[in-house]
Amino acid sequence: DELISQIAAGEVVERPASVVRELVDNALDAGATQITVRLLAGGVRLISVEDDGLGILREELPIAFRRHATSKIGSLQDLESVATMGFRGEALAAINAIADCAILSRAHGLSEAFLLDGRTGELRPVARSPGTTVEVKELFYSTPARRKFLKTDATELAHCIESVRRHALARPDVGFAIWHEGRLVEQWRKCGALTGGLLFDATPEALDALDQRLYDVLGADFVANSVRVNWSGSKAAQMARLDAAPSMRVWGRAGIPDAARSRADQQFAYVNGRFVRDKVITHAARSAYEDVLHGNRQPVYALYLAMDPTRVDVNVHPTKIEVRFRDSREVHQALRHAVEDTLAVPRA
Ligand code: ADP
Ligand code: MG
Repeated sequence: DELISQIAAGEVVERPASVVRELVDNALDAGATQITVRLLAGGVRLISVEDDGLGILREELPIAFRRHATSKIGSLQDLESVATMGFRGEALAAINAIADCAILSRAHGLSEAFLLDGRTGELRPVARSPGTTVEVKELFYSTPARRKFLKTDATELAHCIESVRRHALARPDVGFAIWHEGRLVEQWRKCGALTGGLLFDATPEALDALDQRLYDVLGADFVANSVRVNWSGSKAAQMARLDAAPSMRVWGRAGIPDAARSRADQQFAYVNGRFVRDKVITHAARSAYEDVLHGNRQPVYALYLAMDPTRVDVNVHPTKIEVRFRDSREVHQALRHAVEDTLAVPRA
């Protein structure tokens, strides 16, 4: 059983950044508005993720480390329309199999907090404010071969920061801070009011908050050299796809062609609030720029797609970075048209 857990862990956890991604996912699912990540040695010695979310009840704490224990999916039908980041109930169990873990939590509305030691199963009272902290120490301590595959602390730290950055771009309504070796290395303050998680509604206020977050995370240059995308299907697009359901919305920012730099590290795409790396999306974005960007120049963009959750399968891979669209042509066209229509609009 230990072996099975460790094999499962290998699929979920590649490096410290994978742990960071899972823990931040959980914090967001718990409704956190402020998330603090603390790291030692690039995350290998310690990853601690602290949130001010709903917390976990004392009697539910021991369940959190159990495989396929999730509080988020009630039925197979739920799996069709997942609205939380997590849903497999695998992450904490997997991480606990390959590191020294502890959860400290105080459930919302209760006065007591408890610490659960993942190794011994021991539960004891502690003091903390409402919310949850998950601590992961000595990652891969029991599998030295895997530990050897890790890069330098600086590289692992960079991957951890990138992982939080992806979350930060999805959730301007949540504040993030990253500490490494006791030093604050990144901080993104919350912008605007809570927008309600994954099914983020692209209201004008929310788009302003997003612009602020894009400015904070990707820099003044990115915002100055991009235009706002806010698309829910143009006439032309609808004529081109008479059969398609007009159920897609695209927003964010797209780099203006004459300023677009070759920066593959500034291509961010989200589907229903989830960061994805997807060929259909990358190709659609490239196609939109085809006639306006020459040579090897790469577009930069941060694009957010909202679509019917039953038309996209996020249960493809444990890392959830890949998705499968029911109709990839529909997604390709929507994205391409969104960018093309936006770039054709004269800039203010
Ligand atoms: P999943 O996220 O797929 O449900 P996880 O293994 O990541 O599975 O987490 C297991 C369970 O532990 C979650 O379903 C949730 O009930 C609880 N949990 C984990 N992290 C937190 C947190 N930061 N705040 C509140 N509950 C949490
Ligand atoms: Mg999870």
